[in-house]
Amino acid sequence: MSSYWSSIVHKLTPYVPGEQPKHPRLIKLNTNENPYGPSPRVLDALEKEAADSLRLYPDPNADSVKEAVAEYYGQTPEKVFVGNGSDEVLAHTFQALLKHSQPLLFPDITYSFYPVYCGLYGVKYETVPLREGLAIEPGDYIRPNGGILFPNPNAPTGRLLPLSAIEKILKHNTESVVVVDEAYVDFGGETAISLMDGFPNLLVIQTLSKSRSLAGLRVGFAVGDPALIEGLERVKNSFNSYPMSRFALAGAVAAMKDRAYFEETRGKIILSREALAADLERLGFQVIPSAANFLFARHPERDADRLALQLRETGIIVRHFKQPRIDQYLRITVGTDEQCGSLVKELEKILAV
Ligand code: PMP
Repeated sequence: MSSYWSSIVHKLTPYVPGEQPKHPRLIKLNTNENPYGPSPRVLDALEKEAADSLRLYPDPNADSVKEAVAEYYGQTPEKVFVGNGSDEVLAHTFQALLKHSQPLLFPDITYSFYPVYCGLYGVKYETVPLREGLAIEPGDYIRPNGGILFPNPNAPTGRLLPLSAIEKILKHNTESVVVVDEAYVDFGGETAISLMDGFPNLLVIQTLSKSRSLAGLRVGFAVGDPALIEGLERVKNSFNSYPMSRFALAGAVAAMKDRAYFEETRGKIILSREALAADLERLGFQVIPSAANFLFARHPERDADRLALQLRETGIIVRHFKQPRIDQYLRITVGTDEQCGSLVKELEKILAV
C-alpha cells in the first residue's frame, strides 16, 4: 500500500500466472505450454531479424501478421487485429467493446483474467454458473447483457461447445458483442470465424502461444467485423503504437505459414491427450472430456491440493486452483508422451500408498 498510488490501484486484484520455475529439470505441466519447440522456420525468421534493422521501430500496424492470419482463415486483413499475446488483445477488447451499462456475462469457472480486466477497466459483470459436469449451457446467456465472453474450449475445464451452440447464443444476442476466446481451439475444436459473416457482433480471439508454441514471443490476434477491429485499433493506438516487436512480427508470420509443422505437432498433442486421459481414468480419476491441450481431472478419494504437492516433490508441476467448486480438480497440461508417462508413473506410486 502506498499513498502515492492512484485510487484504482488500491482496488485491483491482479491475475496470478502459473509458476515459471527457475529449475529447468522440472516436468512442467502447469501453464498449458506446447511441449514441442516452435517451427524451425520460426527460429530461422528470428535469426534473420537479429540485424541492424532492430534500430528501426517495427511496423505499428503489424500488416504482415494481419495478412498471414487473413490468408490462413480466408479473410481480409481489415478483419484482423494483432496484439502482444491474446491477453493484450483481451485487455483492449474489455476496454473497447465490453464496457456498457448492462453487465458483461462470462462463466463462473473460466479464465481467471476476465474479472481482473473488469476490475482494471471498470467493466460491470455477472458470472453465469456452469451446469452439471462443468458445462456451459447456451440458454443461460439469453438475457440482457453488455457483452458475452467465454473461451471455447473453456479453461480450465477443456470442454468444447459445438458451433451450433455458439450460433444459438449469437442468434439471441445481436445487440452486444460476443467474444469467443479460442486460445485452445486448435486442439480439437472448430473456429467460430466461419460464423462471422452472419454476425457483425462476433469477435474471435486466438493466440500463437499454445498450438504454435510461441508463448515466449507474445502474439495473439482477433478476427471480426472491421467496425469491431477499428474499435480495438483506437484503443491500441491510444495505449502503445508498437506492441509487437520486430521479432514477434517475423516469428508470427513464419508460424502462420508453416502449416505442416503446426498440423504435425497439434496432432501429436491430441493423441497424447487421449492416451493420458485413458491412463488417468485407469488410475481412478474422473476426467472431463477435453478439446484442449490440458486435462481437468479429479480423484474421488484424494485431495487435489495434496496430490499437486506430492507430484511437485517428484519434480512434476501441475495446476491446482484454490477456488470453490473446482478445488478438487487438477489441471494437467498435455506434455510429450514421455512426460505424460512420468506423470502416470508417479501418480501410480502416490496412489498405491
Ligand atoms: N485465454 C485463455 C483462455 C488462456 O488460458 C490464456 C493463457 N493463459 C490466454 C487467453 C492468454 O494467452 P496469451 O496471452 O499467451 O496469448
